Amino acid sequence: MKKEFKIGPLTAAEGEKVSGYLPIVNAEVEVPITLINGRNEGKTILICGGLHNAEYVGIQSAIELADELDPENVSGNIIVIRLLNRTGFEHRTMSLVYEDGKNINRVFPGSATGTLADQIAYTLEKDIYPFIDFFIDLHCGDGYEGLVPYVYCLGNASDYVVETSRKMADIVQVDYLVVSMLDTEGAYNYAGSLGIPSILIERGCKAVWDQALVEEDKKDVKNILRYLGILGGEVQRTGSIPKEVNPVIYENAPVTGCWYPSFQPGDTFKEGDVIGVIKDYFGNVLFTCYAKQNGIVLYEVISLCIIKDGPMITYGAWDQEIDRHAERSKDVIM
Ligand SMILES: [Zn+2]
Repeated sequence: MKKEFKIGPLTAAEGEKVSGYLPIVNAEVEVPITLINGRNEGKTILICGGLHNAEYVGIQSAIELADELDPENVSGNIIVIRLLNRTGFEHRTMSLVYEDGKNINRVFPGSATGTLADQIAYTLEKDIYPFIDFFIDLHCGDGYEGLVPYVYCLGNASDYVVETSRKMADIVQVDYLVVSMLDTEGAYNYAGSLGIPSILIERGCKAVWDQALVEEDKKDVKNILRYLGILGGEVQRTGSIPKEVNPVIYENAPVTGCWYPSFQPGDTFKEGDVIGVIKDYFGNVLFTCYAKQNGIVLYEVISLCIIKDGPMITYGAWDQEIDRHAERSKDVIM
C-alpha cells in the first residue's frame, strides 16, 4: 500500500485527490490547494498558480490542471496551489500582496514573523518544499506588462538542479529561455538552492487570459510531468527547443511619469536604439532609454503609468548571427 500524502491539514490516500485550504503561518489567510496521491510510487512535484495574482493564465491553468489530473494515471504525488496570493486576487492588486504591498517573488527566504508576503514564503518553505522533488511556477506578464512567452530555469545551484531544471525548461513550447542566476528572492530560485529543480513559465499578460493560452500551459506542464515519470504516457512535443537569451538586462524606471515604449514584446532592436521614453504630464522628456546591447524585448511595461524604481523593460541579448546559426542547428527533441 502506498503511503498517505499529507500537506498542511490535508491528507490524500493512495489513488485519491483532495482539495482544501492551506493555512498561511501566523496569518488569517488560507490558500486553495489540491493534493493528488497517485496510484503508483514516484516523485513529488509542486505546481503553483497565482504567486502573482494578476497573472491569470497561470492561475486558470493551475485550476484546470488540478481538476484534470487523474490519480489513476499518476506515479508519485502532485501538489497544485490554485492561487497563492489570494488576498491580492480578491482585492485585484497588480500582483502585490494586498496587506503589505510586497512582491512575494522578492522575499525568499520568508519569515514567520514578517508581514503576509514573508509568511506566505515561509509557509511554502516549511509546509511544502521539504516534501517536493520538482517545482513548476506558472506566471505571466503582470497586469501592466506585455510579454513574449518564455521560460526561466536555474543557473546558480547544484549540477543536478541546473541540469534537471534545464531539461524541464527545454520541454516548454516557447521560443526563448532565460537562465536565472539568483538563488534567493524568488520562490523557484530559493527552491533551487534547496536542491529542488524548478522552472518558471511566462505566458500571457495584461491581466487577461484566454483558453488557448491555458491549453498551452497545461500541455507544457503535462509534458514535463510525463518526462519526470509522474504522469503516464509519452511526451508530446513538436518544434525546436527554446533559444537561450543571454545576458538579460532588467531596467527599472529612474523616474515616475508617462511611459512610451518603442517596441512590442518579441521585437528586436540594435544597441543604441531608443527603446522607450518617459515624459511628464506636459510632454517634457524626463528620461530616454537606450538599448545597451542588440536585444529582444522579453517583457515591458505597457501601462501609460510608469513608477520610479519599478520595472520598465527587460530584454535579452539578440545576435542575428547566433539566430541564423540556431536556425541551422534546430534541435528537435522527443
Ligand atoms: Zn509573475
